Amino acid sequence: MTPFDIQRLLIDELPFSFLYEVAFRACLAFIAVFLFLKCSGRRGIRQLSLFELVIILTLGSAAGDVSFYHDVALLPVAVVFLTLLILYRSTIFFMRRNKRLDAWIDGIPVTVVKDGLYEYKSLRKLNISSRELLMELRQRGVEHLGQVRLAIMEIDGDVSLYFFAAEDVRPGLSVLPPEHREEYRIATHSGVHCCINCGFTRQLESGSTARCVRCDSEIWSPALTNHRSS
Ligand SMILES: [Zn+2]
Repeated sequence: MTPFDIQRLLIDELPFSFLYEVAFRACLAFIAVFLFLKCSGRRGIRQLSLFELVIILTLGSAAGDVSFYHDVALLPVAVVFLTLLILYRSTIFFMRRNKRLDAWIDGIPVTVVKDGLYEYKSLRKLNISSRELLMELRQRGVEHLGQVRLAIMEIDGDVSLYFFAAEDVRPGLSVLPPEHREEYRIATHSGVHCCINCGFTRQLESGSTARCVRCDSEIWSPALTNHRSS
């Protein structure tokens, strides 16, 4: 075998007329995927849950193979599509009837912020880094946790946010990146501080240290108090 052999790279041992067949196969794959999605009962795909992602990946792999492999016959691939469709629809059918199955396959929405504090125990279970959540909050216009009444991580990975009314905003932990957020063990000035691990708020005097009563962390950041601008 010669590496970078042009003939092998371009078409290998197949005749050039096979390219017509590839075009035909691609059309069939396209129609099959389209019909599959049409029959799946979904209106569109904005965000995929884990279960749907698995279905789509398997589907995409079958569609890809049948498009350009000359030795992949059409009928077995049609059976793959049909099987996936039956699997998908019947799983959905059983998930609708069984809440526990539904929760196991698709997961359940998880509360990640409540009353301006991290639900740090559920965050740990979720296996998402706090950096991801902070990014999500910033992209939604949040500057500190005291503005957030409730944040719920949905099963598709999106975060739903509910805010405090302006008069109910409380001092809260900044969600800004490190260069905009001071963090220290010993307070550099007196004032309201937030535990960087869970968001717990308390007064700290200049030069003092403290242990968070909620999560045991000892790192603090000055609380922010501003309202959301829009
Ligand atoms: Zn804490």
